[in-house]
Amino acid sequence: MASSPLSHFATTSFWQQSIGLPVPVSDAAEPLALETDLCIVGGGVIGSSIAWFAKQAGIDALLLDARQPALGATGRNAGMALCGIAESYASAIQQYGRQTARELWQLTIYNREMMLGLAADLGVPHQRCGSWLLADCPEEADALAKSMRLLQEDGFDHHFTPTDPFGRGFLAGLHRPTDGVIQPAHFNRALIEAAGVPVISGAAVKKIATEGAGLRVISSRGTVAARRVMLATNGYSALLHPFFQGKVHPQRGQIQVSEPAPLVFPTAGYSHFGYYYFRQVAEANQPGLGRWLIGGARHLNFAAEAGHTDENVTAKVQADIAAYTAQYFPELADVPISHRWAGTMGFTDDGLPLVGELPDLPSVFYCVGFNGHGMGLGIKVAERAFGLMAEGSHPGIFDANRIGT
Ligand SMILES: Cc1cc2nc3c(=O)[nH]c(=O)nc-3n(C[C@H](O)[C@H](O)[C@H](O)COP(=O)(O)OP(=O)(O)OC[C@H]3O[C@@H](n4cnc5c(N)ncnc54)[C@H](O)[C@@H]3O)c2cc1C
Repeated sequence: MASSPLSHFATTSFWQQSIGLPVPVSDAAEPLALETDLCIVGGGVIGSSIAWFAKQAGIDALLLDARQPALGATGRNAGMALCGIAESYASAIQQYGRQTARELWQLTIYNREMMLGLAADLGVPHQRCGSWLLADCPEEADALAKSMRLLQEDGFDHHFTPTDPFGRGFLAGLHRPTDGVIQPAHFNRALIEAAGVPVISGAAVKKIATEGAGLRVISSRGTVAARRVMLATNGYSALLHPFFQGKVHPQRGQIQVSEPAPLVFPTAGYSHFGYYYFRQVAEANQPGLGRWLIGGARHLNFAAEAGHTDENVTAKVQADIAAYTAQYFPELADVPISHRWAGTMGFTDDGLPLVGELPDLPSVFYCVGFNGHGMGLGIKVAERAFGLMAEGSHPGIFDANRIGT
């Protein structure tokens, strides 16, 4: 195992700053020597969901994070809880087959409902504002039209328009009226707090070894003896264990957020097959104003964005994102940018998460590889990983054995 370089970060997101992250971590703390039934490694949406399921099941757990919960991708994303995955329903059917595509879409609906329901219960800002997939090229417009027919046949509540619903130069749109958005860092923190698990921050796991009938988790802050471990380290997984090298590929994603501006876009937008995503974040106590949040442009910068876990922004990607705003939302193009940040995603070869148990370390489970959709899918995939760990239940389409582990 290699040690994690996750000791610092280059950018802080609007979401993180809004809830007072990062909090300084004391270096003076005594080395840890703890015991638990379940040791969760990674405090993003997946680790916090596992903690939540552990609480429901009455399992004693604690969570280690190399930095602090919500400093990873979960505190750095666009906060969209959308139905489906970025590729159109038509292309998902082509890639995975109809039954799997239907199951994936249905799962994102269950996930969204659970996430928005928990957000309401936990006092996390969220909004059921609907979403629009907006075609910016003829190929995407065709894919949306074809998807609409298939979605209708499969009973999903989507609406297609063959013209631009916003009069901004898009070619077509697919509306999903029940989708929602959320403050993701706040959600991450609130879910961990609700799960009530002890959290050890600044504890980068360097090694996991078997010890007698159990496991020893060795971190930069000391050790934890555990009966079982759940790795929820997504894009950072290959830094922790070589098993993930070549299986979970880190990719950087970048976002920019503006100063408050008049609200002109009341929904969540996705365009160019998901390579651009945008929304306006309503400004508290300032009705009619919202910050323009937009991210993406990875397809214009694939090589430059691959392999990073550093959370730096680059002038090129930031300029590409701004160019998209200028083309489709020109009235927002000159609003000053208040925040720019990056986050690390974990991509798999077939676009689906990996759930399993490490071949060389029995009782070390993992739930990783969210392909930029951890908010849309994560809680329900974590539920399957938890089921595998706690009851031996099969993780279905997310079973990592499909890639010949
Ligand atoms: C710019 C951007 C925009 C996005 N927008 C969306 C969106 O709108 N909707 C959506 O569905 N998804 C979106 N995503 C994807 C989504 O953010 C991720 O899929 C999701 O957050 C993954 O959650 P996670 O808990 O697996 O990982 P993370 O949130 O990254 O958490 C992993 C945690 O593991 C910790 N860790 C790593 N290594 C170690 C170690 N060795 N020891 C201890 N701790 C360790 C890290 O510190 C981190 O806290 C976006 C991602 C990015 C980067």
